[in-house]
Amino acid sequence: MSTHFDVIVIGSGPAGYVCAIKCAQLGMATAVIEQAVDAKGQPELGGTCLNVGCIPSKALLDSSHRYAEATLHMAEHGISVSEVSLNIADMMARKQKIVSQLTGGVSGLLKHNGVEVITGDATLGASRQVEVTGDDAQKLIYTADNVVLAAGSEPIDIPPAPVDGDRIVDSTGALCFDAVPERLGVIGAGVIGLELGSVWARLGSEVVVLEAMDTFLPNMDEQIAKDAGKIFTKQGLDIRLGARMTGSEVSGSGVTVAYSHDGADHSETFDKLIVAVGRRPRTNKLFSADSGVSVDERGFVFVNEYCATEAPGVWAIGDIVRGPMLAHKGSEEGVMVAERIHGKAAQLNYEVVPSIIYTHPEVAAVGKTEQELRLEGAQIKVGTFPFAAIGRAQASGETDGLVKIIADADSDQILGAHVVGPSAADLVQQIVIAMEMAASTEDLQLMVFGHPTMSEAVHEAALAVDGRAIHMVNRPKR
Ligand code: FAD
Ligand code: AMP
Repeated sequence: MSTHFDVIVIGSGPAGYVCAIKCAQLGMATAVIEQAVDAKGQPELGGTCLNVGCIPSKALLDSSHRYAEATLHMAEHGISVSEVSLNIADMMARKQKIVSQLTGGVSGLLKHNGVEVITGDATLGASRQVEVTGDDAQKLIYTADNVVLAAGSEPIDIPPAPVDGDRIVDSTGALCFDAVPERLGVIGAGVIGLELGSVWARLGSEVVVLEAMDTFLPNMDEQIAKDAGKIFTKQGLDIRLGARMTGSEVSGSGVTVAYSHDGADHSETFDKLIVAVGRRPRTNKLFSADSGVSVDERGFVFVNEYCATEAPGVWAIGDIVRGPMLAHKGSEEGVMVAERIHGKAAQLNYEVVPSIIYTHPEVAAVGKTEQELRLEGAQIKVGTFPFAAIGRAQASGETDGLVKIIADADSDQILGAHVVGPSAADLVQQIVIAMEMAASTEDLQLMVFGHPTMSEAVHEAALAVDGRAIHMVNRPKR
């Protein structure tokens, strides 16, 4: 085994493994170091995303959606279903099979691209020396011309809710309950809290979400967040804003949560409690003081717009650096860094990174929100269009939500798009393409959209920017 590489990548999550594959494709001798091992002692590749994040959560969201459809929504289609029953063990086995298929796929891709996979706990020292501690506590030293840090993130724990893996769990624990909790508490109404809360609510839990902030989804467009809040409440999620959790007590019968709300103290007892109060970068023991790498007060590695750290030849990508903690953001940073190491002037357009909440309906966004733009004093025009006026949405019984497109008042260039509704993630991706190509809303207005599709809501919202929507009473603003 070689000990010097062109590139060493630390961490095999979506940022790290994509970077490693790209480096290898560009002809560089590449190694990826992964600390996690599976039950057979093999490296557990794919990071948070494949093992305990994006993929298993979407597997359960899909299974639970089918269950909710079968139990709640078939009658309206004239279909009667009897004796729908739930087998959680089978549902979890399906989820695990998907995870294994995908992690196995990553392993195959790394192998076929000639990337060397090293198992162990890596620490970056001075001069791009990487010390790797294996299972047997043996330390090996590797060196590289370039080192890419991609160590990812972990759930934040808060003193009032110490995770015990039984009554009180983090997102990882919430992906493997062996039964549907009768009453489920969720701390934090962020993306992860809403997705996991939705899974268990659809499967029959009574779900209460406690959120410390007074505003629901404060980073989303206000109008979209408001609409999403109404839809989730209608679905049965009991979302309590301004409710700060202050303590918890686990007993044989459940977990009692103390929280403050409207200036008074309250308590609730749940069978299970999911703590989903955010994630922190895993940079604690990732590098030594003489590595030249530094972090901010929250532990994020300092990088420039090209993900270069302050240490020559050391890069950092994914959840350990600024920006949204999203798999696709990290992967594209990985590609950019590989190309820059190879000498190309690659860059990433951070303005058009989409973000998605995979509830049903989905909530998705790209670019700036209306409130952000108004705060900046930008001159904008806004078009919205409700799914209720879209034929395909009516046919599918998916009429909740709307598409909102914001454009510059003078140039007509698209500045942001925000969707709550059916296929929101895919509809926003259409706008990502448009924004990347610097399209105007007029470009969208002039395009032909298939009928009947959910995409027609994008077309109509683009038309509505100039008061020209067809299937809604609106007038051009003069
Ligand atoms: P990670 O995926 O965290 O991978 C880092 C890897 O580095 C890990 O395998 C770790 O073991 C390894 N490592 C760490 N330190 C060392 C070390 N010192 N030595 C060796 N190896 C090390 N994002 C989306 O875009 N879409 C979603 O739908 C989505 N859903 C999510 C759902 C949940 C429940 C969660 C928890 C997250 C979700 N995310 C989603 C976020 C997404 O998982 C992360 O943004 C993404 O995994 C970050 O990728 P990464 O490569 O930076 O880090
Ligand atoms: P996110 O970072 O998007 O995953 O969201 C996490 C959410 O948890 C944020 O909206 C926080 O306001 C919320 N949160 C953090 N601490 C508490 C707490 N003690 N009680 C209730 N909500 C909290």
